[in-house]
Order: sequence, then C-alpha cells, then structure tokens
Amino acid sequence: MQVIKISPRGYCYGVVDAINLAKKAAQDPHVPKPVHILGAIVHNRHAVASLADYGIISLDGPDREALLDQVKEGTVIFTAHGVSPKVKRKALDRGLYCIDATCPDVTRTHALVRELAARGYTILYIGKRGHPEPEGVIGEAPERVHLIESEADVDRLDIGEGPVAVTTQTTLSIWDTQRVIDCIRRRFPHAEIYNDLCLATQQRQEAAVEQGREADLVLVVGDRRSNNSNRLVQVVQEIAGRPARLIDSAADIDPRWLSGVRRVAVTAGSSTPSEITREVVRYLENQDVDVLAPRA
Ligand code: SF4
Repeated sequence: MQVIKISPRGYCYGVVDAINLAKKAAQDPHVPKPVHILGAIVHNRHAVASLADYGIISLDGPDREALLDQVKEGTVIFTAHGVSPKVKRKALDRGLYCIDATCPDVTRTHALVRELAARGYTILYIGKRGHPEPEGVIGEAPERVHLIESEADVDRLDIGEGPVAVTTQTTLSIWDTQRVIDCIRRRFPHAEIYNDLCLATQQRQEAAVEQGREADLVLVVGDRRSNNSNRLVQVVQEIAGRPARLIDSAADIDPRWLSGVRRVAVTAGSSTPSEITREVVRYLENQDVDVLAPRA
C-alpha cells in the first residue's frame, strides 16, 4: 500500500496569522490580561487546546454577543472568520482591548457588502447558516443581505426590482457554489457575481479532487465542526468519486478501513495543526506502507 500526501493541505495563511497574533498578545506585557478569544480561533480542538497553554481563554458558542457578555476585563480577539460590526462596537463600548484577527479574505467580503449596500444593491450571500462567518458578514447590512444555502433558497426569493449582487462565504465547495451561482444567474441575469471563495480553500479542494482520484481511500484530517474540512470530504466523494473519511487524529483510524486499499491519500483542513496530520502519516508509515513524496 502507498500513501499519497496531498499537497497543498492543512494550515492556511489566515489561520497561521490568527494563531500567531493570539500567542503574541498573550506574551506581550502591554496587552491587558486575561486574553479571550471570541469563539474558537479556528474550528479545531487541538489548535484551541494549544492556545490554552498560553493562558488564553477560548469562549465557544454560536452567539458572539452572548460570549462577549462573559468578558469582564482584559482583551478580546476576534477570530479569523470575523464578527459583525455590532459585536466590535459592543466590545469597544465596554472598554475592552480589541485585537482583530479576521483573515484579509473575510475582511474583503465585509468591505464589499458595505459598499454594495450603500449603493442600494440587494445582496445574495451564499453561505452556511450558523457559521460565524456569514453571521459577521450579514451583520454589515442585515436589511440588504439574503443568506442563500441552496438552489431552493434562490427559488423562494422575493426581492423585487433593483440591482442584485452575489457574494460567498470563503470556505464552501467550489462545485456547490458554482451550481447556486448558475441558478441565481438564471433567475437574475443582471446579478453581479463576486465569488469570494478564498484561494486556500480552492487550492485544497482542487488538490484533494485531483490527487484523491489516484487513491482508493482519502483521509481528511480535521475537526467535525470545520466547514472547510467537511467540504474536502464532500468534494472527494462527489467530484473525485472516491471514498473519504473525516478523522480528528490518527486515533480515529480503524485499521479495517485499510484492508484491500492499495493507495491511501491524506489531506487536512486549513484549520488542522500540521503536527496532527504528520501523526496520521506516521501511523500509516508504521503500517509498513510506502509513502509517496509530495508533488512539486
Ligand atoms: Fe482565510 Fe481562507 Fe484560511 Fe479562512 S480558510 S482563514 S478565509 S485563508
């Protein structure tokens, strides 16, 4: 059996920057303590646990405003996938020291929504309900933005006349998003399209599909709550047509999965610490298999 290490995989620039910002804040004597993170800095329990070693308090839950109410003093860090302007204002009004670790790719969508709303556009935002990123972006102009999760949501829209623009969450499936965009184009041919899937997401999905095709089984290392990790599983299954499993770590691998497998491929969500993925590869190496070098 051979192991294909899919490349690129794992940590993206936005996640690396957010984690470094948080660690720097924890070590900086000028930053008021304690340091809190408003939500999991990334959706990965290993990454969150490593920050606890720095004395950082991660507050977890879907309602950012409610989380903010738990912070009595010190510093709050806004996570890589952003928060709404209302939450930012509230934190500042409460006199908390604020550090914004929002990924530049997400910040760009916030700015786009603000600009389009000011110009009178109706904005169709393709995203996943309950994820912090849509919550933050929609908060820029809640009266002008409609959350679209599927083609059925497009059919149900009742938005009247006027200019329409489309933008997206950063970590969706390339193929699902394109289907929804095509559906919007059919109903609103005049809609302006701003596809904001981030480069890291696109590259990881394309690599998983292309290199996963060569494998009998693809293991995606990632947290169950990580949208981009779940999308990797989905695109390997639906686009590459190969079996894929989401695993949190090497401990999740059932040796029976490898029975009869000639080639197993490994990839990881952009919120998965590299060490966890390395452990998975090491586990597979210890099964006495050949490991293929990553592609150039
Ligand atoms: Fe930024 Fe994309 Fe990484 Fe999210 S997945 S933090 S948008 S680079």
